[in-house]
Amino acid sequence: PEGDGGMGSVDGDAMSGNPYAGLVSHLRASWLSRKTRPMEYRVAQLEALGRFLDEKKQAVLEATAADMGKPPFEVELSETLLCKNELHETLNNLSHWMKDKHVDRPLATRLDSAFIRKEPYGVVLIIAPWNYPIYLILGPLIGAIAAGNCVIIKPSEISKNTERLVAEALPCYLDKDCFAVVTGGVQETTRLLENKFDYIFYTGSPPVGRIVMTAAAKHLTPVTLELGGKNPCYVSDTCDIPNMARRVVWGRFFNAGQTCIAPDYLLCSLEMQGKLLPALREAITEFYGPNPQESPDFGRIVGDKQFQRVRKLLCSGRVAIGGQTDEAERYIAPTILVDVQPSDPVMQEEIFGPILPIVVVANMDEAIDFINSRERPLAIYAFSSSDKVVNQVLERTSSGGFCGNDTLMHVTLTSLPFGGIGNSGLGMYHGKFTFDTFSHCRGCLKRGMGREPLNAPRYPPYSQKKFGI
Ligand code: NAD
Repeated sequence: PEGDGGMGSVDGDAMSGNPYAGLVSHLRASWLSRKTRPMEYRVAQLEALGRFLDEKKQAVLEATAADMGKPPFEVELSETLLCKNELHETLNNLSHWMKDKHVDRPLATRLDSAFIRKEPYGVVLIIAPWNYPIYLILGPLIGAIAAGNCVIIKPSEISKNTERLVAEALPCYLDKDCFAVVTGGVQETTRLLENKFDYIFYTGSPPVGRIVMTAAAKHLTPVTLELGGKNPCYVSDTCDIPNMARRVVWGRFFNAGQTCIAPDYLLCSLEMQGKLLPALREAITEFYGPNPQESPDFGRIVGDKQFQRVRKLLCSGRVAIGGQTDEAERYIAPTILVDVQPSDPVMQEEIFGPILPIVVVANMDEAIDFINSRERPLAIYAFSSSDKVVNQVLERTSSGGFCGNDTLMHVTLTSLPFGGIGNSGLGMYHGKFTFDTFSHCRGCLKRGMGREPLNAPRYPPYSQKKFGI
């Protein structure tokens, strides 16, 4: 098939009728050959990934700019730097992570060797979305390689320029017998998913997450699902308003709002809403100037379909700030909506665009009830000068991750697990968590052949035993 990394074998195709069967069996043969097992091999592949990032830096900037007008600084921060942090952390710790972990033994096995061995799953499939089209491929890929797997990568067809770059350039850096890129959309991914994988790592929307998990269930393949949802941001009556406004505006309008952990809506009192609006307006102007359409630091919506969907959401409530659109450029201004009802369309789906609705609540308790009455989100944010308030929101809600008095920043720590819960996902990654995600923990006990009298108490005939006395 087109774009299968040039590795599909004709024999495999003819045998199963599935266009990707040959590629999968080729990778499986490589995995079974144990080629990916030595640490030196994994390190060499990871270092090659580092060279891809360095040498294709300009191409990544150009592709992501062509796909969604990503400002170069945002690409550096959210694509390149995050990948490099992951690489650095992994290369620094791999030998330690790979080591057998010896564990405590009860009396009966005290003289034996008991340990957990981290083993690769085998052939892994990574399916990525379009919003961070480099980081959301390389982030999981780094862990999958580090853990010793063979990998098929399926970038999003929506971010088509980055898809082309990944499909053409990445295989030049990696061992083609073990790593491949498959391109295409729904049709291709559906066929790809018919194959048996040993692990599937999917990032995208909850509805497609269900499709992926259903396909995986046919082969009893374990999955990680990194999904999305509506991330609430509670603002208490006591907070530093200008600082809060800058942190919220940055998190909401970064990548033109197309961020899975962006604050999706604000919850605050009516009094706070009155104070917030001028501060939000000021932060928007400070960041993007009087006309954000002319700012080199504000992105665009990725495609026409996505533009139409986000634009429709502007009809909810009343536009307090922004609201301008330009279809030709797929531009939607940084927008704040007020008078929004929980039943409005903008509160029914993940916004995934530069719109921030404000929902008025009486107090913190009502905000917490509101959050808990909805699907569990990927992130919850709480702003307050009182640590007690931030702690209350943390204590009494549930979400994939949490950040007090800022937005997005928790994603930058490789020491924190990143993932959803319930509708926002299943499993976690980043740093060592990625390595662990792609490793099977094999529980091993090795005993000596002697000392048989020690085993005698467990053998039949049981009638002669005095067990439990
Ligand atoms: P999407 O679910 O439409 O697509 C993701 C991937 O799935 C793409 O590679 C696509 O080709 C494939 N796909 C789409 N439909 C399919 C189908 N019917 N069968 C098989 N494969 C299919 O998601 P998207 O629009 O690319 O990304 C936006 C979503 O991703 C948002 O919900 C966002 O919150 C979420 N997201 C989550 C994270 C996270 O880390 N949790 C990160 C980024 C984005």
